[in-house]
Amino acid sequence: MSDAGERIEAIRREWGDRLLILGHHYQRAAVLAHADALGDSLELARLAAQQKKAERIVFCGVHFMAESADILSGPEQTVYMPETAAGCPMADMATAELMQGGWDRLNGVCDGWRPVVYVNSTARIKALCGRHGGSTCTSSNARRVFEWALNAGQRIFFLPDEHLGRNTAAAMGIPDREVALYNPACADGGVSDDEIRRARVIVWKGFCLVHTAFTINQIKAVRAAQPDATIIVHPETPREAAELADAQGSTSEIIEFVKAAPAGSTVVVGTEQHLVERLAAEQAGRVTVKCLKPSICANMAKTNEQNLLRLLEEWPAASQIHVAPAVANEARRALEQMLEL
Ligand code: SF4
Repeated sequence: MSDAGERIEAIRREWGDRLLILGHHYQRAAVLAHADALGDSLELARLAAQQKKAERIVFCGVHFMAESADILSGPEQTVYMPETAAGCPMADMATAELMQGGWDRLNGVCDGWRPVVYVNSTARIKALCGRHGGSTCTSSNARRVFEWALNAGQRIFFLPDEHLGRNTAAAMGIPDREVALYNPACADGGVSDDEIRRARVIVWKGFCLVHTAFTINQIKAVRAAQPDATIIVHPETPREAAELADAQGSTSEIIEFVKAAPAGSTVVVGTEQHLVERLAAEQAGRVTVKCLKPSICANMAKTNEQNLLRLLEEWPAASQIHVAPAVANEARRALEQMLEL
């Protein structure tokens, strides 16, 4: 273990249960070696809410995840990030002001809208969602949340990932003509009044750079070279590629899919590279796991052993993630609505 790694472990022993280090699946292996728990964003936020003995929670992930941990954790707990500049470009594609503009536009044309917000969004977006009676969702439960809204006779305003929205609607059999795109960069969202009236789902024009890197041509190339390989992609992948793959799955579902793959098989995965590399190492000798295309989340990669050690040694106030109570209370409503479904 590196010198920084040894010092991190010494601090962890000293703090014991009072310190909880959470690591997202997309983190570097050297960082995850020091985590008390690994998980996707929601699993980790839930853990933050359950581990009441932990006075300090260190979130190795990106900013919106640490915000959710702060919203769901107790008032006596403090959430920190080793690198607070680790944001999520997709989450930042929807600001509260832009979302409110979209909400007003849709409601100006017809009634019956319900916001559904992907957890990969800022606390202020989740708060607006909670204020307007909506729910958050993850890539695992997006379909269940869509059904909740549609079965109540509502129309869905989904933010901020166009592709998860389109893939979910397509999997539910919602015709393309009932799905429209809201582009906040265009006048009136780039969507006509007729399209809004016809829509059951309106998706926000946002995307994840890591997952939009996966294409139809890459899938065709794998099929030509390795016809026996199974291809699974994350549903943040654009629909035409996602539909050509053998399966789609959230981060947790991809992990389970690989674990369940038959011995001797090959699984080609379209998601963040650090996770695929870890799965490949774990499955070595049993299943061959490959990247559909190497694709790293540069923000997840900002956390490393050095800034983790600096945080644990110095606890700078600037590394603390604190969501203002008024925002946290409304955002918690949207998160809790999801947890109830
Ligand atoms: S992988 Fe994509 S959605 Fe996840 S943190 Fe990175 S940019 Fe955001």
